[in-house]
Amino acid sequence: MRVANYYGREDLRVESVEERALAADEVRIDVEACGICGTDIHEYTAGPDLTPSADAEHPLTGVGLPVPLGHEFSGIVTEVGTDVTSVTEGTAVTVNPAIVCGDCRYCAEGRYNLCESVANVGLSADSGGFSERAVVPAANVVSLPEEIPVAYGALVEPFAVGVHATRRSGLEAGDAVAVFGSGPIGLAIVQAAKAAGATEIFVSEPRTTRREIAAEVGATTTLDPTSTDAVKAITDATDGGVDVAFEAVGIEPTFTAAIESTKRGGQITAVGISNSDVGLTPNDLVVVERTINGSNGYLSGPLADREFRMVTRFLADGRFDPEPMITARIDLEDIVEDGFEDLVDPESDHVKVLVEP
Ligand SMILES: [Zn+2]
Ligand SMILES: [Zn+2]
Repeated sequence: MRVANYYGREDLRVESVEERALAADEVRIDVEACGICGTDIHEYTAGPDLTPSADAEHPLTGVGLPVPLGHEFSGIVTEVGTDVTSVTEGTAVTVNPAIVCGDCRYCAEGRYNLCESVANVGLSADSGGFSERAVVPAANVVSLPEEIPVAYGALVEPFAVGVHATRRSGLEAGDAVAVFGSGPIGLAIVQAAKAAGATEIFVSEPRTTRREIAAEVGATTTLDPTSTDAVKAITDATDGGVDVAFEAVGIEPTFTAAIESTKRGGQITAVGISNSDVGLTPNDLVVVERTINGSNGYLSGPLADREFRMVTRFLADGRFDPEPMITARIDLEDIVEDGFEDLVDPESDHVKVLVEP
């Protein structure tokens, strides 16, 4: 079987591996499609980070390098373990990739997505989606409705990030929203915010293609921050600021702009993964009573199907449209050249590249 294994920075190799037998609680999936995520690109250019390091195995899974990549995928179940009753052979599924420990403080409190030793299929487990077949715990699979193409299941994970962020923001019907950054997560947030009843959705994004896609999936105004004062445009149009702003980049200019585009008493939800210093000014929060919170992934562990199911329903009823976000479909053998190397380029017009093993 062919699989893309991550050996370390800028070292991803498509190679042949033996398939292993299933444990009693696992299923085997014939992979239909797997999206390349910003996280994968980060591992490629700056990792190992969420992948195991060269000299240490992941504490929960015991997996070390090389590790198979790919955590946004869908396919058909071809085999189930002896104890599995929740899913049967032939079922179209997507995968919630998070594997939680079940006994840290946060798992005990039911906040599984904050698990202290979380691992992920396709980052720190022995299987991933850039592979002809994947093996995952049955508890991690979510069945897909018949109405949607199986390949759309590969977009459920990034859409779930958008749904979780929208729910964390407390967005209410009728609210005005600003989204900073319209990569796959920003575009998922636009669609989730629209589904939640946002009336105005401003998107600030420097890349032309991404602004066009944002408009196609629900943004009511798109702004190019390299040629327009996005904060001024948003605050002028909304009598002082939006109710809710989402930051989906993780750098100081967008973080600051997200805060300044929000009304007094408004909400900023931070989604962009980053270790950057974003230079906060206390009075941008204190005297105007704005609130900032973070949003990490999606519900997982025993709650693995909650937000994933919301997404599959939105895909089935047409409120979520993944098609404009899919900018290329490539073979597994071309994953480095036509996938990773292309997405590394900051000028790339690609949004979501699907690998179809
Ligand atoms: Zn991802
Ligand atoms: Zn835990």
